[in-house]
Amino acid sequence: MTLPDSKLTFTADRELFASGSARVADRAAEFLQRIDQYSDLNAFISVSEHAFGSLASDSDERYTSGLQRPLEGLAIALKDNISFKGLRLTCASRILETFEPVFNATVVERLLNSGALIIGKTNMDEFAMGSSSEHSYFGPVKNPLDPQRVPGGSSGGSAVAVAARMCHVALGSDTGGSVRQPAAFCGVVGFKPSYGRISRYGLVAFASSLDQIGIFARSVDDAALVFDVIKGHDPMDSTSVATDTRQSTTQRKGYRVGFLSDEFIDGCDESVRSAYALFREHLISRGAEVSDVSLPNKQTWIPTYFILATAEASSNLARYDGVRYGVRADDTSSDMITATRTAGFGKEVQRRIMLGTYVLSSGYYDAYYKKAQQTRRLIAEAYAEVFNKVDFIAMPTAPTTAFQRGEITDPVQMWLSDLYTVSANIAGIPAISLPFGTDSSGLPIGMQLQGAMFSDEDLLQFSGKLISA
Ligand code: GLN
Repeated sequence: MTLPDSKLTFTADRELFASGSARVADRAAEFLQRIDQYSDLNAFISVSEHAFGSLASDSDERYTSGLQRPLEGLAIALKDNISFKGLRLTCASRILETFEPVFNATVVERLLNSGALIIGKTNMDEFAMGSSSEHSYFGPVKNPLDPQRVPGGSSGGSAVAVAARMCHVALGSDTGGSVRQPAAFCGVVGFKPSYGRISRYGLVAFASSLDQIGIFARSVDDAALVFDVIKGHDPMDSTSVATDTRQSTTQRKGYRVGFLSDEFIDGCDESVRSAYALFREHLISRGAEVSDVSLPNKQTWIPTYFILATAEASSNLARYDGVRYGVRADDTSSDMITATRTAGFGKEVQRRIMLGTYVLSSGYYDAYYKKAQQTRRLIAEAYAEVFNKVDFIAMPTAPTTAFQRGEITDPVQMWLSDLYTVSANIAGIPAISLPFGTDSSGLPIGMQLQGAMFSDEDLLQFSGKLISA
C-alpha cells in the first residue's frame, strides 16, 4: 500500500472531534475496519471490543459537553507485552498463548483515565527479542510498503499499526532499539524516553535495566501528547524517576547538534549515508548549530548490549516454568519444566537464555558480565562528555532500510542491525527516530537524535520543529 497522509494525526482529529466535524465512534470503527482490511500484514494478535460502543460514544458526549480529557478518543494499540486486563497477553510466545493478565499496566491506567481507547494488542518478536518481527509464534509481521519485507522489530506490529493507520498511536518497548528501528523501517516517529521516565509496571520484563516503553506516532506532537500523559513517577516501579527532573524550560533557539564522522557510518547503505549528510543540511537550515563529535567506543556497543540483555533475560524468563504462567507441557515425566520450556519458547529466546546463563555462570562472570558492566559505564561516560558540548547527537537509526523477510538468517548478523540504537539504552538516554527521506525503492529512512539523560521534553520539542513543514 502507499502509506496514508502523515497529517492524519490525533492532534488533527482532536480538533475535528471538538468542533463536531468528526465523531470518535466513527473513527474507531474506521480503524477497526482497516485492521480487518489489512489483516494480511499480521500487525495484531488481539483486537479489542473495548473501543466500540459505550466508551467511544462517551468520548463523543464529552466533546459535545466540553468535558474532554487530554487523550479523549485517541485510539491506541499496545505491544503484546504490556498488560491490559481483558485481553490476553502473549508476548507472541507459545508459552503465554492463553495467559490472561490480572491487572493493568500503569501506562494503561493512565491512558484510560485520559480518555484513550485501547484498540488491540500488536504482534512482535517473541519476548521482544529480535529486529524483524519475523519471530512470533503468531507468524511474521509484514511491512505495509512491501509485504515481502520486514517492518523491523521487535515492536513491528505497533509500527505497522501506526504506519497503515489502524490506530492513532501505538506503544512498544525499546530494550535495544525495538521502537526506533521499526519506526524507521515503516516511516513513522518512534520515541524512546530516558530510562525511568515511563513506568515499567505491567511491561513484561526482558532486560530490566534497559527496557523502556516507547511511543509510535504519525507526528512528534502526537508522541509528545501521549508522553505527557503516561510519563512520571510510579510507586509501583522503583526505577521510575521521582520527579520530572527537566521539564522543557524555555523555547530555546540555538540547539547544538553533534554529527559523527564518515567512519562512524561506514557500514551503512549508501542511501542512509546520503540521508545523514542531508539531515545535517536540514538541521542547519532549521537554525541548529552543527559540529563534529566523536563517540570512541562504538565497537563495544553490541557486545555490551548482548551480554547484559541476555544475562538479564535469562533471569527474567526463569519464571516461565509451566507452574505459574500459561502453557504447561503435557508431560508427566520428572522434568515437566524442561519439557514446557523446550516446547514453549522459540529458538531465538532459547538461544538468549543459554547465552545469558553462560555469561553469568561462575567461571565466566568476570570475563563477560562484569566486563560488560564496566564497558557500560565507559559508554555512558563518553556520552556525558559529548553532551557537555552539544545538546543532541544525530545518527542514523539503522544501517539499512527494511530488508526482505528471510534475508537475514545468521543471528549475529541480525543483532548488527541494532548497531545505532543499543547505546541509548546502555546509557539510559532519550532517543527518537524521525522519518527522513527514502531509498531508491521508496523505502523509508529514519534519522535518530539522542539527548542527554532526562532531556526528553527538549528532544521532543526540537524534533517537532524539525519535521514540521
Ligand atoms: N533488536 C534488539 C534485540 O534483539 C532490541 C530488542 C528490543 O529493543 N526489545 O535484542
